[in-house]
Formats: sequence, structure tokens, C-alpha cells
Amino acid sequence: MEKVRLGKTNLMATKLGWGGIPIQRVDERDAVSVIRAVIEMGVDLLDTARAYTNSEHRIGLALQKINRRVILSTKSLVRTAKIYNEVHESLKQLRVKKINIYHLHGVSSFEEYEKVMAPEGAYEGLIRARDEGLIDHIGITSHNLPVLEKALMEGHFETIMACYSFLEPEAAQKVFPLAKQNDVGVLTMKPFSGGVIEEAGPALRFVLSTPGIVPIPGSETLERASENWKVFARGYTLTEHDKERIENIKKEFHQRFCRRCDYCQPCTEKINIQFIMGLKTIVKRFGGHVQELKWMTDLIERARNCSECGECLPRCPYQLPITEMIKENLAWFDNLRKQ
Ligand code: SF4
Ligand code: SF4
Repeated sequence: MEKVRLGKTNLMATKLGWGGIPIQRVDERDAVSVIRAVIEMGVDLLDTARAYTNSEHRIGLALQKINRRVILSTKSLVRTAKIYNEVHESLKQLRVKKINIYHLHGVSSFEEYEKVMAPEGAYEGLIRARDEGLIDHIGITSHNLPVLEKALMEGHFETIMACYSFLEPEAAQKVFPLAKQNDVGVLTMKPFSGGVIEEAGPALRFVLSTPGIVPIPGSETLERASENWKVFARGYTLTEHDKERIENIKKEFHQRFCRRCDYCQPCTEKINIQFIMGLKTIVKRFGGHVQELKWMTDLIERARNCSECGECLPRCPYQLPITEMIKENLAWFDNLRKQ
């Protein structure tokens, strides 16, 4: 079973990790069984976040009566030193005395990066938590590759987390080599591009065959968890069939897949374009919780203000039909609510 050293943290993780978004969608008992099964299979890195509603809590429950060593990674969206209080909440939910890796979650722009790194910013809060022995290592996650490049060059972080799949392979060009050069551990999220790619085999073999990274596909059912593990355990060289499927899926999504790069911003109506472009997969991932999460419903309502001014369109490097997709996704969401 291949292990990957997570840079200067010196943590050794099984090449296949696990992400805690999908277990929000099932009931608590099933969630706990899936997490325990995943650990029994041999996964030893679990990633979650304060923002994933009950995910930390469920992992905490699952870890009771488990004797295996598991690397815990979580994260918070708080941008000030008050993130220190979030660390305490994570410790409580996860029912542990120490968390191995605490990430600044989704730092999506240079402005946000400056904010978290400023005096009294979130980075300071995490340093305090690390000095007090509440966490071991500090990481950063982002969908924005230039932000990760800056973070890597400045050398404050021990791990990074980037999106990586065959639909968004760009992190392999600069971010992974920079991380290697700076001895920073790499976790990668969204191997199925947030649910857009439905075939596990080619998607997982693509990310697993990239050296030096730990992909963290989530799973909410035993079937899915076993399927992912089997792909890993059987070896992950891309087959000719995989390559063909990858090319076909890439062609299919070329003009409809938002890479969450935010190059289309700023929106004149302050709409979170990438969120609304990916609404279908977000709803799929968060299930019924979307309606309960005010920050999500606020983002959806704001998107209704799109004036179709068209300012975002030429900024999208992938020429996505943004206004058309916003309308389409809102109509889809309204329809779903009626059901
Ligand atoms: S077209 Fe809509 S989404 Fe694009 S900038 Fe204008 S208001 Fe924002
Ligand atoms: S719409 Fe285009 S520019 Fe905006 S986040 Fe998506 S891929 Fe990037």
C-alpha cells in the first residue's frame, strides 16, 4: 500500500485519503459505519471542515473504539484570529485532544490571503493553537492556484490542498512542483470534480497515478467507499480505455464545466459566480442541507440579481456561457424545491 510523505510535516499517509463532505447526506448511523469501514480498509487520513455541518461530529463518533492511528485534517472559514475558537470547537466535535493538520479553508483571492496573513488574521490564530499544542501543522486550501503559489513561495504552510482531476489538471503544472521544492505536503480535493465525473475508475486512476499527492475522495455509502478502495488496491496505471473515457468526458464538459478560478470576478451585482455555476454538484454533495444553510441560500438568492450585463463573460478563460448557466441552474434549483 503506497504511502506518501506530507512534506515537512513528516506525516506518512496512505496514498488514498478520505473527504468528509458526502457523509452529511446520510443518517448518523450509516455515516459512522462508513467512516469506520474506510479506516478498516486502510485509509489513514480523514479530512473534514467546520463548514461541513455534522461531518466533524460524525467523524468524532466514528473514531470512538477505533484503535488505528488516523491523521485528522480539518479547516475553518474564519478569517481572523478568532479561528482559535474554531480549533476548540473542532477538537470538541472530533473528540480528540489534538488535530494533526488545521487548514485555512478556501482562501479564494489575494485579498483574502492578505487578510488571513495580516496581524490578528486567522494565521495568527492557528499559530497560537499550534503553540498551545492543540494542532500540529498549519495548511491552506484554495480553488485559486495563484493563491496557492503565493502561499507556497512565502513558506508559511506545511500542507496545501488544491482541486485536481482530469477536468482540472492545472495544479500539476506549477503548484505540485512548487510544493515539492518547498517540502510542503499536498492533499487534493474533488477527484470527481465535485460530482461532475461519474465514473470512479478513470477519475481515481488519473489522480492516484500522480506522484507525491494524496487525493481525498469522499464516500457516504459502503459501496462507494469499497469501489474507491478497490481502484486503489488494484493498482492505478491508466488503461487505454481510461484514456479514451477521459478524452470523451473532457469533450463533453469542455464548455459547461466551471473550474472555480474566479477570473470572471468582480461581478457588478456581487454574485458568487463559481458557486452558482456549480450549484447542481453542490446540491448533490450537500443533499437536503443546502436549504438549511443560510450562507448557501443567500448566495442563491443573490444570483437572482444577475442583470446580464455581460461583464464577466470575456473574463472567463473557458468561454463559459455564464449568464445562460446561471439562469439554467436557478430554474433547476427552483424546480427541485417544488418537488
Ligand atoms: S452578467 Fe450577471 S454574473 Fe456576469 S457580471 Fe453581470 S451581473 Fe454579474
Ligand atoms: S465561470 Fe469561468 S472564470 Fe468564472 S470561475 Fe468558472 S471557469 Fe472561472
